[in-house]
This record gives sequence, structure tokens and C-alpha cells, in this order.
Amino acid sequence: KPDIAARIAHKLVGSPLPPRVRAVDDVSFTVRQGEVLGLVGESGCGKSTLARMISGILSPTSGRIRFEGADMAAMSAAERRRAGLAVQMVFQDPMSSLNPRLRVVDIIGEAPVAHGLVKPADQDGYVCEMMERVGLDPSTRYLYAHQFSGGQRARIGIARALAVQPRVLICDESTAALDVSIQSQILNLFMDLRAQMGLTYIFVSHDLGVVQHISDRIAVMYLGRVVELAGAEELFADPQHPYTRALLAEVPRLEPKKRQFTGIKGEMPSPLNPPSGCHFHPRCSVAVPACATRRPALRELPGGRLAACDLIGEGVAG
Ligand code: SF4
Ligand code: MG
Repeated sequence: KPDIAARIAHKLVGSPLPPRVRAVDDVSFTVRQGEVLGLVGESGCGKSTLARMISGILSPTSGRIRFEGADMAAMSAAERRRAGLAVQMVFQDPMSSLNPRLRVVDIIGEAPVAHGLVKPADQDGYVCEMMERVGLDPSTRYLYAHQFSGGQRARIGIARALAVQPRVLICDESTAALDVSIQSQILNLFMDLRAQMGLTYIFVSHDLGVVQHISDRIAVMYLGRVVELAGAEELFADPQHPYTRALLAEVPRLEPKKRQFTGIKGEMPSPLNPPSGCHFHPRCSVAVPACATRRPALRELPGGRLAACDLIGEGVAG
């Protein structure tokens, strides 16, 4: 496992420990170096907010985010800038995140030059290299983003993120706007880049099909809390949390295009005013009265997986 390898390397030669993430609501979990962590949940569950906090775009109001063992809030400006470059976000809609007044050579090449990673004289050649890496034709580098197709714009967004030499890529619904065939090409590109560059991914999606396909582990979020975290295979084969079970029951397995979260009993409550106790209790088919007052902690189950439901192991939730 990559995290064990990283820990041994840390002991032996002092190499950095895997990046750590402390998430909302006193929930703490670690993103392991080199893994793909899928972060799933219905819209409004807080997964995009969490992704933005991890990437440094948003600051948590309380709690800490640690990168390679260091608290990001306690870093010096230079350290924070270094960590900020190391963790890059790839957005859902490449068009709205690509400056329409810039040519691709500047969209991709500006930040690495500004941060001193590349000399101005080398920008052109560096951009060509980045474009080749993501499967774009470098001879198109003087065009504007709107002159490319949706799939090519997604690749431009990825090249821009890669250009600052990150170690972690956070992909927030990065393929959601694309046709299914283009989407799978981009997912394959992500996996090729992971193999070539040893990247770590946090892959945010409402689409369980996408996340199942590429994740090593999956964290399931509900109303700002992580309710289950397990290896992708285990999670699909044997979901433990009642919410995860409800989600998986909703996945129509024969229609990959329709792998959406729909039809769990009741509406998702507002994140601004979440239910007491276990946030899931109004919609949970196995809730007991105590669930309305007692907040379940995310705890370790046999096998090292995590779930936040007090009834698991008491023969009730199963
Ligand atoms: Fe359902 Fe209670 Fe478990 Fe929450 S704690 S998931 S309401 S059984
Ligand atoms: Mg979102």
C-alpha cells in the first residue's frame, strides 16, 4: 500500500509523509500519497466545499488541513505558496475557468513563469511539452480556448494544472459536462498521468459509476460529514452505512448514463439547518429514536474501513 511505503520511506530517509486532510465536523481522514480518493454525495452535501478547502481556495472556519504533516494555516507565506502549487484543482466547466482573452500558450504557461518554475524564454517549449502530455497538438498553442472542443478544453485545463508541477490533483466533477465517450477518454488521461507522474487524486463526483471506475478508496459524504470511507471494491460489494446502502440501491446498474442519486426517501435537508443527532435520521430506513439525538462518530470497523452509524455491529443496521 502506498501509505505504508511512504511511512517506511519517511522513517528511513526522512521523505515527506502522505498529505493529510482534516475535514469538516471534527471528521478526520488522510489522503494517501499516490491514491485516487473518490469523494461522493448528492449535490449540496459539501463535497465541493471540502474540495475547495483542501485546495486552499477556501479556508476552513475551524479545524485544520495538513499537507505533508504541516498545518496549512500555520505555514509561512512561502510555504503556503509551495503547498498551494502542489495541490491543484481541475474544474467542472473548463470554459468558465479559462480566460477567454488569453491564448493557450499563456493559459498554460503564465503560472509556471510567474512562480519561477520556468524561465520566460522557455515558456513556449514548456507549453508544447505540457500539451503533448495531455494529448493536445502543440501547433494549436496560439489559439484561444473557445476555438477548441469541450474535450480539448478539458485537456487545456488539465495541462494548466500540471504546468505548476503539482503532486495532488483535485478534480471537481471534471468530466461531468462531457459526452460519455469523451468523459472516458479524460478519465483514462487522468489515470495515465497518475502512472507517469505519481500523482495523488481527490476525485469529487455525484456519479458513483465514475468514482467506482477510478478510485482506490471512496469517501461518502452526507450533509457536511463523511459517513463512510472504504476501499472502492469493499464499498460496492458490502456497503455498511445505511446512506451508502440507499445510494447503491439507487444505482441502476444496467444504465450507466443514469447513475444518479435519485429517489432516496424524502428531500435532502438544507445544509444550513441539518437535522439533530445523525443528520441522516429523517431519511434512514433503520433509524431508532436515539438517532435523532445522538450524533454517531466516524469510527473504525473491522478491516480498517470507517463508518458513522452507531447501529452498525449491533445487528440492527445490517
Ligand atoms: Fe440511520 Fe441511526 Fe445509523 Fe444514522 S445512526 S444512519 S439514523 S441507523
Ligand atoms: Mg459541486
